[in-house]
Amino acid sequence: MKFTSSAQTEALAQTITHPYQATSFYLNTDKSQQSLKAINAAYKGLLNQARLKLEAKDISREVRKSLLDDLDRIAQFCTNRLNSWKSPGLAVFCCSARNIWQELELPHGPRNRLVQDFDFYTRPLSSILEKFKKLCAFLINRREACWYEVHLGDIRQLDSLSSDVPKKVKKGGFEGYESKRIERHIDALLLEHFKKAAQKTFDILKQNQFDWLLLGCDDQFYPQLEPLFHSYVKDKLKGRIKARPGTEVSRVLQECLDLEDRLKREEEAGLVKSFVAELERGGRAVAGLADTLRKLNSYEIRHLLIIHNFSKPGRVCPGCHGLFLIEEVCPTCKVKTEAVADVVDEAIEVALSRNVPLTQISSPTRLEHYGNIGAFLKFKAQK
Ligand SMILES: [Zn+2]
Repeated sequence: MKFTSSAQTEALAQTITHPYQATSFYLNTDKSQQSLKAINAAYKGLLNQARLKLEAKDISREVRKSLLDDLDRIAQFCTNRLNSWKSPGLAVFCCSARNIWQELELPHGPRNRLVQDFDFYTRPLSSILEKFKKLCAFLINRREACWYEVHLGDIRQLDSLSSDVPKKVKKGGFEGYESKRIERHIDALLLEHFKKAAQKTFDILKQNQFDWLLLGCDDQFYPQLEPLFHSYVKDKLKGRIKARPGTEVSRVLQECLDLEDRLKREEEAGLVKSFVAELERGGRAVAGLADTLRKLNSYEIRHLLIIHNFSKPGRVCPGCHGLFLIEEVCPTCKVKTEAVADVVDEAIEVALSRNVPLTQISSPTRLEHYGNIGAFLKFKAQK
C-alpha cells in the first residue's frame, strides 16, 4: 500500500497491540543511491541487532515469541520482495500475535531502523509528510484550464474549465475596422477566461491548503494572467512548468516533482550557506557531531542540520539521556554510558521530542566539509 496521508499515520498510532508489543521497521530502498546488495546488508544488520536486543529484554514468553515472529516475517518479506521493490522507501508495522501486518511504500528513503516497543513508531512517517509539499499545478491555454494536486509522488486532477474563445484573427490581409473590432472582442473573451481561471485558482488553493502553486502557461499570456491573481495566490506561486492543458498526466507529475526537488535543494543550500556564514564569523552556530551533541545535551540548539542518512555509533547516558560520541562516563551523572548503534538517530529523536526544528540536507552539500551535522544556537558559542 502506498503511503499517502496523515490518516494512515494516525490509524497506526492508535492501533493497540497490548498485551503484546509492536514492531516498526523502516528501510531506505532507494536504488538510485545504493546497490541492492547494500540494501540487503542493511536490513539483515537491523534484524540481527533487534534479535540481540530482544534477548536482553525482560518480557514474557508470549510477548517474546510474537516479537521474534515479527522479525522472521520481515526477513521473509525482504527476501521475497526487495528485488522488485520500486519505491525509495519501505515501512512495515506488525504484531504477529494480534495478526497485524501492514507494509507501506514510502515516497522517500527513511533512515534505516527497527523499533520494538509498546506502540507503533510513526514519527518518520510524520517527517515524510512534512518534507513533501502539497502542490497545485495550474495549467492554462487560451481555451482550457485545469488544476492538479500533486502530493507524496501522486497526482490527481481537481478541476477543469473551458471557455469558448475563438482563434485570433489572422494578421495581414485587410486591416479594416471590422477585424479590429473582432480582435477586441476576442481579447475581451480571453480576459474573461483568465479572470474565471484566476478566481478558481484562488478558491482551489483556499479549499485545499496547498503549500505551493506551479503554473503552466505560454509566456505571452503570463503578463495578462499574473495581475489577475489574488495576493494569496501570488504568495503561493513558486515556479513555472512546461505542461499545458492536454499534457499527459505522467509528464505533468514528473515536471512538478523535478521542480519541487530543485526548489527544495535551493532552500537547503540557502540554509547551509547562512549556517556556514554564521559559523565562520564565530556566531551562534556549531559544527561536527561531538560539539553538536554537547549543545543538544545543554538545550542550546535552535535549529539542527543533518545530512540525510548520516549515521555514527555513539553512547547514551541511562540517567539523563545525554548523548555522546565517545564519553564512557556521563560528565553530569557520573554513571557509565551505554553504546548505541546510531547516535545521530538518537539526536534526531531528541530534537523532534523537544520541537527543535530539524532539516535533513541532501548531499552533495557544503555541510559535508563541516562534519555532516551542525546547528544554529540560541546563544553565541563559547570559545
Ligand atoms: Zn547523564
